[in-house]
Amino acid sequence: MIDTHAHLNSRDIKDLKEDLIRINNLSYLDQIINVGIDELTNEEALAISRNFDKFYCALGIHPLEEGNIDSIFKLAQYSENKNRIVALGETGLDTKKELKPQIKKCIETIELANFLKLPIIIHSNNTNKKVLSLLKERPAQYGFVFHCFQPNLLDLEEIIRRDGFISVGTPITYPSAKRSLEVVKNIPLDQLLIELDYPYMCENPIVEGKNVFNKIRELRNLEYEELETILDSNAKRLFKNLKNSRKS
Ligand SMILES: [Zn+2]
Repeated sequence: MIDTHAHLNSRDIKDLKEDLIRINNLSYLDQIINVGIDELTNEEALAISRNFDKFYCALGIHPLEEGNIDSIFKLAQYSENKNRIVALGETGLDTKKELKPQIKKCIETIELANFLKLPIIIHSNNTNKKVLSLLKERPAQYGFVFHCFQPNLLDLEEIIRRDGFISVGTPITYPSAKRSLEVVKNIPLDQLLIELDYPYMCENPIVEGKNVFNKIRELRNLEYEELETILDSNAKRLFKNLKNSRKS
């Protein structure tokens, strides 16, 4: 299984090295995309992808964080392991802060992703429609995923129509998840991804990863291997650099 969204960095985790070793050794996880949220965590995510064989990275300035998009350009152009960068982001919009500066950062990120031929990872908090209209003006030419998707079937339809991906995680296992379950039931299987968003949305990747996976299986009536094959091939279609090994 490929975990398409994790935040393993020293800002969020006290014993980072232990966690990295533990997660890198989890037998059911084949690849993990570690997502940066600011300049420091971008550098860390890139370094981790050099040192741990299952780890890849996405570089971005989170909509609620400060940072310069130029710093991503420098990392993506000049790092020796730039082939482990699989996407830019997360980027997007969040109503917890003023939107205007976030829109500027988001547009710059999309433009850089297009230049680097990378997809983008979108964070949208109460802003699905705004993000979709922004993406209409500035299409992400190499694809996009709405991570931790806030369930809304109309927005889902629009994302599907534009060949976007939806990534779901632990919220689909909550008792209150009715609307999220509708999303999982309605999405074309070839546009679905899985994420744990450790340590924010998931406390125990060993148990919760399997729970999320099994919930999707149950809803779509699929065998373990069938679902694994579908989700892995989706992730590799969007994040093409997942094919790059550490030494290539
Ligand atoms: Zn995130």
